[in-house]
Amino acid sequence: MVLLKFHGGCQQIGMSCVEVETQKGRVLLDCGMSPDTGEIPKVDDKAVDAVIVSHAHLDHCGAIPFYKFKKIYCTHPTADLMFITWRDTLNLTKAYKEEDIQHAMENIECLNYYEERQITENIKFKFYNAGHILGSASIYLEVDGKKILYTGDINEGVSRTLLPADTDIDEIDVLIIESTYGSPLDIKPARKTLERQLIEEISETIENGGKVIIPVFAIGRAQEILLIINNYIRSGKLRDVPIYTDGSLIHATAVYMSYINWLNPKIKNMVENRINPFGEIKKADESLVFNKEPCIIVSTSGMVQGGPVLKYLKLLKDPKNKLILTGYQAEGTLGRELEEGAKEIQPFKNKIPIRGKVVKIEFSAHGDYNSLVRYIKKIPKPEKAIVMHGERYQSLSFAMTIWKTLKIPTFVPVRGTILPI
Ligand SMILES: [Zn+2]
Ligand SMILES: [Zn+2]
Repeated sequence: MVLLKFHGGCQQIGMSCVEVETQKGRVLLDCGMSPDTGEIPKVDDKAVDAVIVSHAHLDHCGAIPFYKFKKIYCTHPTADLMFITWRDTLNLTKAYKEEDIQHAMENIECLNYYEERQITENIKFKFYNAGHILGSASIYLEVDGKKILYTGDINEGVSRTLLPADTDIDEIDVLIIESTYGSPLDIKPARKTLERQLIEEISETIENGGKVIIPVFAIGRAQEILLIINNYIRSGKLRDVPIYTDGSLIHATAVYMSYINWLNPKIKNMVENRINPFGEIKKADESLVFNKEPCIIVSTSGMVQGGPVLKYLKLLKDPKNKLILTGYQAEGTLGRELEEGAKEIQPFKNKIPIRGKVVKIEFSAHGDYNSLVRYIKKIPKPEKAIVMHGERYQSLSFAMTIWKTLKIPTFVPVRGTILPI
């Protein structure tokens, strides 16, 4: 019998980790860290044959350097991006050492999508494209004859950077699915609408001679935003002003460029036609950023909690300038304070009065509710489903949706749940 042990990512977003245990071997599906609290799942690294990582976001791979795993499987781009995630975390928290990152990197084995790997005599797996960030994968496991699909984070819709998640998947016994936008209330505006909103907000500020600050997550969001802005500039719909970048998004964008064959084929076409899709990535030069000319500053961190974006916040003293938040802002972050209309903030010693406009246009690398429903209808019908990676309301809502749509038993595990399958 196969046991699924849930160590994290249950009725929460953060520290995703599922242990697949059999008598002849065991593997972990993801081993993430909570981005809010820094908490990690408690696992026995010596007993685990391998960790299979879905993608390079902190909540899926952040806990790996805390352990000494024998083997880590991921896609080629994920390995490069994980290095950035781990380095960022090390710089921010000092929670582990550089040697721990080195140890983890040395035990990584990279695969392409659809390439099969036998881990133990009774466990084999392959990756499907998950459409979420560069290199992101859904993990398809065969364990003692049971076929498990662990979706990881998925986006079934189109994005500028990536092809949509694969849905042409082999037969499935057990589906383990994310539910970030799992409730029927989580229906997001069309991508084009969001893009137009973004460009209108930027234009308004630029035309008034102001500067726009866009805090972004380094991996995924940053590249989408840069692609959109550069695209509108090329088509003449947005004035050609300097775009300055700062933070680890610079490295992450370089990784995106290195793995051009893993991206939306339109990007490769652009490059072949001598168009630089992400624009020229210029490290922000403070003398230029703080001069009088209009410009766009794209910088980490996405929730305005740490990262170089903090030093640009003083621009918001000037009512001409604007801050555009592009994603979810967690409780307790400066981003959330700004979103809620803070009149002043204190990123460093001195308080900064906020006179510039703050707007939020929420881009997401996750499918919304409708997209998740389409996904479960497109993939082969499983015998049972397990819902993870969503807040409690979203997880429970989506479990109900699966039951109504597919009429199969659906579980919403909590941390510590052990499910025989
Ligand atoms: Zn993710
Ligand atoms: Zn995630």
